[in-house]
Amino acid sequence: MADRLGASGIDLHIHTSFSDGKGSIEDMAGAAKRRGLALFAITDHYEESSGSQQRKVSRAGLAEYLSAVSGAGALRGVEVEIYEDGSPSISSGARAQMDLVIGGIHRLRGVVFWDDPTPVLDPRAFVESIRIVAIRAMESGLLDVLAHPTWLPEDLRPESKRLLTPDWARSLIRAASDNGVAMEASGVWRVPDEWFVRECLKQGVKISIGSDAHDPGSVGRTAYAVGLLRAAGAGPEDLFMPTPWGLGRGRS
Ligand SMILES: [Zn+2]
Ligand SMILES: [Zn+2]
Repeated sequence: MADRLGASGIDLHIHTSFSDGKGSIEDMAGAAKRRGLALFAITDHYEESSGSQQRKVSRAGLAEYLSAVSGAGALRGVEVEIYEDGSPSISSGARAQMDLVIGGIHRLRGVVFWDDPTPVLDPRAFVESIRIVAIRAMESGLLDVLAHPTWLPEDLRPESKRLLTPDWARSLIRAASDNGVAMEASGVWRVPDEWFVRECLKQGVKISIGSDAHDPGSVGRTAYAVGLLRAAGAGPEDLFMPTPWGLGRGRS
């Protein structure tokens, strides 16, 4: 199908076995090429020091990771943690070696956002924390993209519409606009919704298309994201495009 957006061939959020993905870089890049993707990024989980239990790329393994990513013909990215104090798990020195840095909140107030049914005792305070922490992270100057915005922990998901008010969303989007951070439309998690994307376009915030694939079968699974952009009337100028690291980067 013809694609005025030129967005069907883009996937800027892919994991490999360097972190918690189920395919090697070669497997995932192979899937991207078979699917005819024109632009794709490998974005494994990254923390500056490898203190965590989970498998992640750390500063010590960064050179090996980046050379494997470049060798596979992918853009060089990482997905970093946004910690409870709003700081992203990457230094400016490591960031300078990337085409793109995606930041995601995956854990807050002891609740993990995936596969954790822990009840959230004060839902309004919890979503307010998400807003504050995400805004601090966007103000750090270390992020290019905010991952899967409006995704909530399992216990709160059925109430997303009620909890995430238009004011909540506008505030988050304003911070993205002020700090030149793009919002992600997530193919696998199917967030955010069309209203949120329209609000991003109104405020001049670019949208990053990513599958968040963790296995080769999900690479390029971006139909939800592309559908949102079409429905919202987005043009090619509304798409987030990484600045290749070799061409220099930074906002200063
Ligand atoms: Zn994530
Ligand atoms: Zn991810």
